[in-house]
Amino acid sequence: MANPKTRRAQSIITPDRDRRFVTEDNPFEAMMSRFDDAARRLNLEPGLYKVLRTPEKQIIVAVPVMRDSGEIEVYTGIRVLHNTSRGPAKGDIRFDMAVTLDEVKALAAWMTWKCAVVNLPFGGGKGGVICDPTSMSVAELERLTRRYTAELMETLGPDSDVPAPDVNTNERVMAWIMDTYSMRVGHTVTAVVTGKPVEMGGSLGRRDATGRGCLVTTTQALAHLKIPVAKATVAVQGFGNVGSTAARLMAAEGMNVVAVSDKKGGIHNPKGLDIPAVLEWIKEHRYLEGFPGAAVISNEALLCLECDVLVPAALENVITSKNAAAVKARIICEGANGPTTARADAILDKKGIFVIPDILANAGGVTVSYFEWVQDRGGYFWDEPTVIERLEKIMVNAFGEVLAMAQTHDVSMRIGAYMLAIERVAAVHRMRGMYA
Ligand code: NAD
Repeated sequence: MANPKTRRAQSIITPDRDRRFVTEDNPFEAMMSRFDDAARRLNLEPGLYKVLRTPEKQIIVAVPVMRDSGEIEVYTGIRVLHNTSRGPAKGDIRFDMAVTLDEVKALAAWMTWKCAVVNLPFGGGKGGVICDPTSMSVAELERLTRRYTAELMETLGPDSDVPAPDVNTNERVMAWIMDTYSMRVGHTVTAVVTGKPVEMGGSLGRRDATGRGCLVTTTQALAHLKIPVAKATVAVQGFGNVGSTAARLMAAEGMNVVAVSDKKGGIHNPKGLDIPAVLEWIKEHRYLEGFPGAAVISNEALLCLECDVLVPAALENVITSKNAAAVKARIICEGANGPTTARADAILDKKGIFVIPDILANAGGVTVSYFEWVQDRGGYFWDEPTVIERLEKIMVNAFGEVLAMAQTHDVSMRIGAYMLAIERVAAVHRMRGMYA
């Protein structure tokens, strides 16, 4: 007979199937449906289930900013710390009109699981300011960043909450946050943010880290499926930081990158694209369109191209219940966050497509952020080959651990990754006990 404790856990965490599929593109639903599935398979205790589902802190602050015109505008800033049981919250900050508390909560939880999958001593957080940075001057953005930082002084800190760049934030924004925090505490604290310029405590290798993580995990998946690297054909959606780096490194490794795209559309050559030449083209022309020696392909068609590896590295929710059945790749390496909906998961599973889930595939970025934090705290900086070697080791280990979890429980790599992450966070909660 089932243990009553377990039985209760199962009854509490049975997901509401209708709710799961009502809003296919809602990030909170997408994360929660995977969390629920993994928690149920782990027979997670009901109490811990409630703890891990609930963010530790949700902070909403007013961010008054004087515009260059002299007018005062008040923006809304959000910071969510989802779970800090394994270490300080690690999570990016975005400036965007589309920021919502629900989205920030989902992304903060996502960071908890991502850090746990690669076994970093970090928890998960996320932040954002609801604003349109394209309508703001550099001086206005600096005032916005500094006031937002000042409002979050109680949570920010190298031991508590360590932001990084995301949508519409960059190295310069991180430098402003670091400076504001340092002025408030009275001394320079480089480790309060990651993704800083290298000259002020950033890490070598950070820029390539996410794409490199995609390369490492893809190479592992190819070996697992016994597909020779040299013959593997690759299609990459998105040619920004993640996509262009993944394409460059995969091509350098001998893979045949047959298609790449950006927001204006894609280029395709079944014989293989000359990726260094594509990178040169982009430097001059900004977009891929017009690149000679390749046919035009739409973003939708690229996702369904016959190839060994598909790397969605642009947007969330591009592989959905509508197009998943048409995907022909043997491996999907999720460079972007949330490119596949929960509903599409089931279709891809049925087709036997090997999905390297986002919380594993794109964890190279947060791993080198961790290296940056370690180097800042130690005051001793590593050369790039050291960063690359340590990154590869962590990614190879994490891939192996997720694969083992997936095989042991006969689940997809995604659910295996969530199970590994949830189990790691839950284990620390059990050891620490409940503070009361
Ligand atoms: P980026 O802004 O550098 O590049 C985005 C690319 O996607 C550009 O080439 C853009 O043209 C393309 N794009 C935009 N809209 C598109 C559309 N509708 N269809 C096709 N392509 C489109 O961004 P990035 O840093 O490369 O991030 C890409 C994804 O990876 C995001 O989901 C991000 O959250 C995720 N990610 C990034 C990192 C990182 O270290 N940069 C780490 C983890 C996850």
